[in-house]
Amino acid sequence: MRPAAFLDRDGTIIEESGYLDRLDRLVFFPYSVDAIRALNRAGFAVVVVTNQAGIARGIVREVFVAEAHAHIAARVEAGGGRIDGFYYCPHYPTGTVAEFTRTCDCRKPRPGMLRQAAADLQLDLSRSFTVGDRWHDVGAGAAAGARGILVRTGLGAEEEKTPPPGVIPAAIVDDLAAAAAWILEHTRGTRA
Ligand SMILES: [Mg+2]
Ligand SMILES: [Zn+2]
Repeated sequence: MRPAAFLDRDGTIIEESGYLDRLDRLVFFPYSVDAIRALNRAGFAVVVVTNQAGIARGIVREVFVAEAHAHIAARVEAGGGRIDGFYYCPHYPTGTVAEFTRTCDCRKPRPGMLRQAAADLQLDLSRSFTVGDRWHDVGAGAAAGARGILVRTGLGAEEEKTPPPGVIPAAIVDDLAAAAAWILEHTRGTRA
């Protein structure tokens, strides 16, 4: 079983832009492809896990999410990297689209997406990490038995000021590049 780096999408791999609903608003951070490639080479599965409540709220269409993820996958592959899986939660407890309006086990900080990916891809959660710009990213990691890193991009610098009780990050770093470096540094000699 491989360890994984579960990467949040908005504010972590790409710029936070509210509810992303058009490809021309999808902007990669300049280091994201390099960071993903470094994690690939160190033996980590790289899995994108993203809350997409905009689907339940009728703001974002599921076909667009698929299009955005195909675009991200292609961009990473063009740079010599690989994303092993994309998981998104389309739900929201108070949405407007009936089919997605409910509580669920996949909306971060719940661990459903991580557990599903672990089952699909044979991942060792105990050696895995989450990286994200929200405390719910760190919380999802902890709930799944992984370790969470908060990044200061996206909403992270604001989030850093208000840590919720009981949510303990493994590290708080500036961005995904620093998070990847931190993971490699702290798993040297122990990886698959
Ligand atoms: Mg985010
Ligand atoms: Zn969900």
